[in-house]
Amino acid sequence: MKVLVVNCGSSSIKYQLVNMNDESVLAKGLVERIGIEGSVLTHQPAGKDKVVINAAISNHSIGIKLVIDALTDPKHGVISSMKEISAVGHRVVHGGEKFADSVLITPAVMKALEECIEMAPLHNPPNIMGINACSEIMPGVPQVAVFDTAFHQTMPKEAFLYAIPYEAYEKYGVRRYGFHGTSHKFVSQQVAELMGEKLSDLRIITCHLGNGASIAAIKNGKCIDTSMGFTPLEGLVMGTRSGGLDPAIVPFIMKKENLSADQVDNYLNKKSGVLGVSGVSSDFRDVEEAANAGNERAALALDLFAYRVRKFIGSYVAAMGGVDVIVFTAGLGENSITMREKIGNGLEFLGTRIDPAKNNVRGKAQEISVDGAKVKMFVIPTNEELVIARDTKAICGNLA
Ligand code: AMP
Repeated sequence: MKVLVVNCGSSSIKYQLVNMNDESVLAKGLVERIGIEGSVLTHQPAGKDKVVINAAISNHSIGIKLVIDALTDPKHGVISSMKEISAVGHRVVHGGEKFADSVLITPAVMKALEECIEMAPLHNPPNIMGINACSEIMPGVPQVAVFDTAFHQTMPKEAFLYAIPYEAYEKYGVRRYGFHGTSHKFVSQQVAELMGEKLSDLRIITCHLGNGASIAAIKNGKCIDTSMGFTPLEGLVMGTRSGGLDPAIVPFIMKKENLSADQVDNYLNKKSGVLGVSGVSSDFRDVEEAANAGNERAALALDLFAYRVRKFIGSYVAAMGGVDVIVFTAGLGENSITMREKIGNGLEFLGTRIDPAKNNVRGKAQEISVDGAKVKMFVIPTNEELVIARDTKAICGNLA
């Protein structure tokens, strides 16, 4: 069975074709600048040279058509016809309270996704466009939606409710949803496997540290709390997002800087975080380089980031009544030796410490805490595409 995994942004389509017999990636690629001048498809067949196709790609349907053409091309394709694609799995950012698991896409599911647009105005519309494009180009091929929010639906009410008038929850669905759920789910399963333990016996804290960053408390295999909230703005400091702050700052800045609601949203989502504090970049590599060269604000931004992660770890230890393992994943978590040190070296009170030799690792699943540590620390590379492919196979494997 071959599954096409699709992740649509407003002007991009990321894809992978996965052979589910051995979970190998047959090809992957990226369509960029949809609807913008200079649109391009970069297609990478496994074991072959990368192909760059420049074409006018005015919408997602044309983008999906080009992806299928690339996958079936006699020269750089990996399948002989579209018929080899058994199912399509889509990353969908927001499933609200309606979806606690991945689902087969039906007209009723599409209606529910439309209803979630209000809560994820930037993310759900392109996800829906991607689904519609695949239905148009591949009619009859089953499609599955895999939600960023689904894994967090097990949070108890005291963890997901905000202390504002209850009607805001009832009328508008204002509550903590959490995001990156596919990643938190994957790395928690992986670490249990690596430790040779049952997921249902472990208390795990998963730190997804990338451009967007979130942390989750996973007790006996179920998420009981996570740092992102109603939107992906809450919680940790991020590349360009503020993370948690005193909500009174919002009207204060609006008045002082004469900003509209949309402008202050942009201020907190795009101009804040590590970029806002350092004034250097949102990319941690640039900020680490600047800090090493003596830039004090860059160093401060990194300290702020690490301190916030450590504070959340402490609070989740309290929430779970202890912790057995802490996992670092995503771009920064998998690759930044110094950031893991900064965070991990403040956790001696838990009975754990980073082993500098073991921590000298990038993008590889490995324990990084000292031998005999009471609480283990691991690097686990995330693989959201594989979770989407697995869920799609689980739902569509018996169809047709
Ligand atoms: P993601 O959103 O998961 O793709 O993560 C992107 C972030 O990971 C960027 O801010 C990168 O700077 C950071 N990152 C990737 N590789 C490294 C590295 N070797 N050292 C530090 N940060 C890195």
